[in-house]
Amino acid sequence: MAKVIIIGAGGVGTVVAHKCAQNPDVFSEIVIASRTKSKCDALAKAITRPGGPKVTTDSVDADNVDELVALFRRHEPRLVINVALPYQDLPIMDACLIAGVNYLDTANYEPKDVAHFEYSWQWAYKKRFEEAGLTAILGCGFDPGVSGVFTAYAAKHYFSDMVTLDIVDCNAGDHGKAFATNFNPEINIREITQNGRYYQDGEWVTTKPLEIHKTLHYPNIGGRDSYLLYHEELESIVKNFPSIKRARFWMTFGQEYLTHLRVIQNIGMARIDEVEYNGVKIVPLQFLKAVLPNPQDLGENYHGETSIGCRISGLDKDHNPLTYYIYNNCSHEAAFRETGMQAVSYTTGVPAMIGAMMFLTGKWERPGVWNVEEFDPDPFMEQLPLQGLPWHEEFNIDLEVND
Ligand code: NDP
Repeated sequence: MAKVIIIGAGGVGTVVAHKCAQNPDVFSEIVIASRTKSKCDALAKAITRPGGPKVTTDSVDADNVDELVALFRRHEPRLVINVALPYQDLPIMDACLIAGVNYLDTANYEPKDVAHFEYSWQWAYKKRFEEAGLTAILGCGFDPGVSGVFTAYAAKHYFSDMVTLDIVDCNAGDHGKAFATNFNPEINIREITQNGRYYQDGEWVTTKPLEIHKTLHYPNIGGRDSYLLYHEELESIVKNFPSIKRARFWMTFGQEYLTHLRVIQNIGMARIDEVEYNGVKIVPLQFLKAVLPNPQDLGENYHGETSIGCRISGLDKDHNPLTYYIYNNCSHEAAFRETGMQAVSYTTGVPAMIGAMMFLTGKWERPGVWNVEEFDPDPFMEQLPLQGLPWHEEFNIDLEVND
């Protein structure tokens, strides 16, 4: 029985709050805090139920360490679930160290003024969290998150040596809008417009943005054009599983989406530097976010499924060749019925709640700063289907990734 603070009341925060409220034996008290308190209040109202956890709300500017420390001292939570934006990771971790609160997030730190993400900034907190006796769990959404847990599960139960890993992320949903992103548009567009990068024989190979693509087949969906992107969990997974010789990440995009993205870039709307407009300084990408559909409003008319998984090849425990595919499919409609959010928020928020549950029940409590694949995957894998994300395995099939 424990008290948690959820920071961020967007798409993912909404799902986390719903799922924590569904597990009152673990989460006895929930505080929802964000920049806009009215959103926290509406969410608190939606999840409060007889016999459920006590829910309260607060406001905080999570860029401000002093405000965060004051928030933590007011509420004295055991754990903060950070589902604000990646820019806030470091201030929240600083405040955790000052106020003695454990930490969990779903995306690694990014500075606002450079579209660049890597774990080094957060890994640098390891010793301080260790010395403070506090646990920090990094990247506990779906990808990063379940992708790392799937990999750890494969290593534990099936492989002696994993040689190739391909994380495959398909959203075959249709929201009926000409163009919209499935989570925070600013973070999403920054991620996709970067160079691609993959790991091969100990080196990182850089590609042009969306340069490499191929058709991959997804269960219950069929063939979809899938693009090689850099994704943050590749950095920690190749470090934690050094037998892996090649690690890549693929995500599907439709032609219509890519055409819009190209236009957005060509006309300068993806810029993240300030420009002056009528005497006011604006960042074009932040302005674009303000006029694009809000990802939280996409759920109602969203049809279809997401399918995210890991395709792994290598040697099994008896040193025979093995290919393995483990995945989850998630329906946008079902996610919306349960939480009012679409499957992209759902598949991120459910694992964040499970990670919090793992910590609060002592299964993933270990002072220091950790990526999810460094913990025992089994109790987390047991919870996934119970909490709405069933997983499936296929063995010795054509993974479609080994050319
Ligand atoms: P949203 O934009 O929907 O929500 C972000 C929330 O954070 C909003 O409530 C926003 O408040 C709040 N916020 C932003 N800045 C601050 C601040 N300075 N202080 C306090 N609150 C703030 O984003 P999503 O819910 O879509 O995404 C949340 C996180 O999940 C992101 O970090 C994203 O990268 C990550 N993610 C991870 C995935 C994974 O699989 N690992 C997949 C998808 C997302 P306000 O409403 O006032 O703007």
